[in-house]
Amino acid sequence: MNLLFALPETPSVPVTGEDARFPVRRIFCVGRNYEAHARELGNAVDREAPIWFTKAPAALCHSGATIPYPPATANCHYEMELVAAIGAPAFRVSPEAALDVVLGYACGLDMTRRDLQNAAKAKGYPWDTGKDFENGAVIAPITRAAAFGPIGTQRITLSQNGAMKQDASLAEMIWPLPELIADLSQMYHLAPGDLIYTGTPAGVGAVAPGDVLEGMVEGLEPVRLTIGPAA
Ligand code: MN
Repeated sequence: MNLLFALPETPSVPVTGEDARFPVRRIFCVGRNYEAHARELGNAVDREAPIWFTKAPAALCHSGATIPYPPATANCHYEMELVAAIGAPAFRVSPEAALDVVLGYACGLDMTRRDLQNAAKAKGYPWDTGKDFENGAVIAPITRAAAFGPIGTQRITLSQNGAMKQDASLAEMIWPLPELIADLSQMYHLAPGDLIYTGTPAGVGAVAPGDVLEGMVEGLEPVRLTIGPAA
C-alpha cells in the first residue's frame, strides 16, 4: 500500500510466557463500577446501565514507564483497574457466553485528568480530554485467562510511594465482567485486540512528579508507573 507517511507500529502488550504480543485494536473503559468509588466522586450508584467511554490505542503506556506529568491538568489521578483482553469476536453475546471471548487479564491504570473530567461532567460535555490522552491507558503484561482462573474475590490494590491507597476485591464490581461484555457487545462488534478497563475501586487520588505507583491484582503481573516532571 502506498501511504503518504508512516504511522507508529500497532500498539501491543506482552503476554506472559509467550513470544507473540497482543495487538491493541480498541480500548473501552467503564466508569463507576465499584459502589464506594462512585460515592467518593459524588455520583449516585445505580444499575441502569454501565457508563462507557473509550481511549485511543495511542494512549497506551507500558508498565514500568516513567511518563511526564500530563499537560493541561493540575489534578491528574490514578485509577487502578482489572483489564480484560478480548481474543475472539463477540456481538450480542449473553453473559453466560461472554467469558469465552476473553483471552486474558492484565493490571491497568486508567489515568484521568480529573479537573478536565469534572469540568466536562458539570456541563454535560464529553469526557474525552479528561480520559483519552497520551500515556493515559497504562497496562501490564497479559496473563492468559486459563492461568488466572475465574474472577472471584481476588484483591485489587494500588500503592503510591509505598502507601496503600486502593484496596478492594474484584467481587465488589457493580457490573461483573460477563455483564460488561454482554452489554458492550450490544453496541459494538467486539473483536480480538479490544481491551476493556473494568472500573476502579475507591481510593483514587492525585499524582505528582516523582510519584511511583504500583497496582496489583492477585494472580496477575503488577502494573508500575513513575511520574516524571511536566513535559
Ligand atoms: Mn476508570
